[in-house]
Amino acid sequence: MSFNSLKTEILNCHRCKLSQTRNHAIFGEGNSNAEIFIIGEAPGKVEDIQGRPFVGPSGQLLDKIFAACGFTREAHVFISNIVRCRPPNNRVPTPDEVKTCIPWLYQQIELVNPKIIILLGATALKNMAGQHHRITIEHGQWINVRDRLAMPVYHPSALLRDPGLKRPTWEDFKKVVHKYRELVNPDHYSAHV
Ligand code: SF4
Repeated sequence: MSFNSLKTEILNCHRCKLSQTRNHAIFGEGNSNAEIFIIGEAPGKVEDIQGRPFVGPSGQLLDKIFAACGFTREAHVFISNIVRCRPPNNRVPTPDEVKTCIPWLYQQIELVNPKIIILLGATALKNMAGQHHRITIEHGQWINVRDRLAMPVYHPSALLRDPGLKRPTWEDFKKVVHKYRELVNPDHYSAHV
C-alpha cells in the first residue's frame, strides 16, 4: 500500500469505538522518508480538534527538544501514536483499542522505514516492546523494536508535570543525536550536542 492510500484508509477508519467520539483520526506528520520515527500514546484534545499530532503543550515542548537536537518535523522525523483517535478525557487507550489500531502503526513504520524509533512514554514502550518494560528504568537505553533500534524516553507530558525529568530526557535525546550521526549523517548539526 502507498503512503497516500494508507493515509486515506486511516482518516476514514471506524475499526474501533474511538471513532465514535473523535473529531479527527490523526494519520501522523513529518517526512515520509524520515530516519527517525516518533511514537507517542494517543492524540489529545488540541490534536483531535486540529487533526495534527503533538500540537498541544506537549507537542510544543517536543518541538523545542527537536530544535535543540537540530531536528525538524519536516526533514528529520515522522510522528505517530499507538492509537490514531483521541480516547475520551485523554484516558489511556484500552488493550482492545491498541490491538485494533496498532497494525496501522506497523504499516506506517514499514513504509517510512526509519533507522531509529523513539518511544515517548510508558504506553509507547509497553505496547511496542512488551508490557513488562518500565520507562522509569529503561529510558535512555537502546532496545530492539520490530528489528529496529529504539530509544525509550519520557513522554513530554511527564516533563510538563515534573520538570525534574527534563535533564535526564535531554541526556537521552543526546544519545539519539549521536546515533543519528553514526547511522545517518556524520555531519548532522546541533548547536547543543
Ligand atoms: S483509534 Fe485506530 S482503529 Fe480506532 S477508529 Fe481510530 S484509526 Fe481506527
